[in-house]
Amino acid sequence: MFANLTEKLTKALRDLRGLSKLTEDNIAPALVEVRSALMSADVNFKVAKDFTERVKAACLGTAVVDSVNPGQMAVKVVSDELTKLLGEGERPIDPRRPLRVLLVGLQGSGKTTSAAKLAKHLVKKEGLRKPSLVAADLRRPAAIDQLETLAKNEGFDFRADRAATDVAGMVGRLVKEAEAAAAAADLVIVDTAGRLQVDGDLMEEVRRVRDAFQPHEVFLVADAALGQQAVDVATKFHESTPLTGIILTKLDGDARGGAALSMKSVTGVPIRYMGTGEKSGDFDTFHPDRMAQRILGMGDVVSLVEKAQEVVDQKEAERLAEKMRKADFDLEDFLAQMQQMKKMGPLGDIMKMMPGMGNVQVGAKEEKMLGKTEAIVLSMTRKERRNPDILNGSRRLRIAKGSGTQVSDVNALIKQFSQMREMMRMMKGGKGKELMRRMGQMGGGRGGFPGGGFPGLR
Ligand code: GDP
Ligand code: MG
Repeated sequence: MFANLTEKLTKALRDLRGLSKLTEDNIAPALVEVRSALMSADVNFKVAKDFTERVKAACLGTAVVDSVNPGQMAVKVVSDELTKLLGEGERPIDPRRPLRVLLVGLQGSGKTTSAAKLAKHLVKKEGLRKPSLVAADLRRPAAIDQLETLAKNEGFDFRADRAATDVAGMVGRLVKEAEAAAAAADLVIVDTAGRLQVDGDLMEEVRRVRDAFQPHEVFLVADAALGQQAVDVATKFHESTPLTGIILTKLDGDARGGAALSMKSVTGVPIRYMGTGEKSGDFDTFHPDRMAQRILGMGDVVSLVEKAQEVVDQKEAERLAEKMRKADFDLEDFLAQMQQMKKMGPLGDIMKMMPGMGNVQVGAKEEKMLGKTEAIVLSMTRKERRNPDILNGSRRLRIAKGSGTQVSDVNALIKQFSQMREMMRMMKGGKGKELMRRMGQMGGGRGGFPGGGFPGLR
């Protein structure tokens, strides 16, 4: 997702970061790069132009604080502006219950799939208990079956009337049944029929369904891979049936980013959710700030943390975090952390979310290196792990032999570990500025994940 855009923007940011003074001439080349990166990601021309103008104005207008270098300020400006472009924070789901959600969009955009995904998401995150999925597609019986299968798989209530001829009347009736005491749905999602393109017929049908349904949320489901075309579709739908949000799907595919980046500023409608795969769990709230950071190759630390929280033993994670805070983190903890991390899935997926590592390709080689790191730590005695300072030459040699590695590997690991610990001490001591400086150095200018962060992955 957005790989090309990230690569180009990362390069532009690298140029910016190196600047010791922000003048119009100084920043011009990087801004040209930023704009061309956006354009080649299929971002709307005007959006790209306005974006670079705003970045320029902010760069020149920002008073430079002594402690940070001007280049870093410029990078922050780009990141902030990109966040604004993607939307301003998240808008919570409408609080009314039973909650009524209408899904509209072109055929193939992912409406039916998203109906089930959204219901599942709202059950998990918003405490809704009884979703009912209503099929409002009279044209294609297969589409009704598809929704029925998805609903059954998730154990959701499902309603359809395959013999109906008037779609609006049918929706009114089915929704009433779903919300009646007997069924007592607290969430009703109506999945409408799409067309291959926006036309008068479709708009008319959607409006009639909306009037019969009286939804609290109207979400346009849009395929991110369509780029600018998706933005045009959104504009037309919004004119006809005011939207409260967009669900951007297929962000896992080869979307170049244009749709995500232009949607909000062109239509004014916020992106509320995103689809990231074919499975029912591949769906999430859209967070503009996290997405901006991910696009800029600064990783997505927050998502990483949340992902970790889902799989990783909560108590254990808290214990480790507390130890980090107290700077009392030893190799024993490190081993535990590494084992937790393995539970989170393929390393490549995790690295994509880490700051400055978005472009690091994690393949068999890196997985092997991590295995090596683990082997080294496992070859240490408990006492050594607890107190790495006692690791003298002969202990290191023994560990290298025991883990089938070289002494230089052991040395490198210990060095990185002490850097990591040093940083924890600084955090504890509240030496934020000093820490930022060190991170800049250690991340090799790549965005500063602490020390390239993870011993064994340099
Ligand atoms: P509809 O015509 O708008 O109802 O679209 P569907 O829900 O039937 O989806 C069309 C196709 O897109 C199906 O094959 C889905 O599995 C696929 N799809 C939907 N959302 C996503 C997504 O976020 N990622 C991927 N990779 N495929 C998706
Ligand atoms: Mg469908």
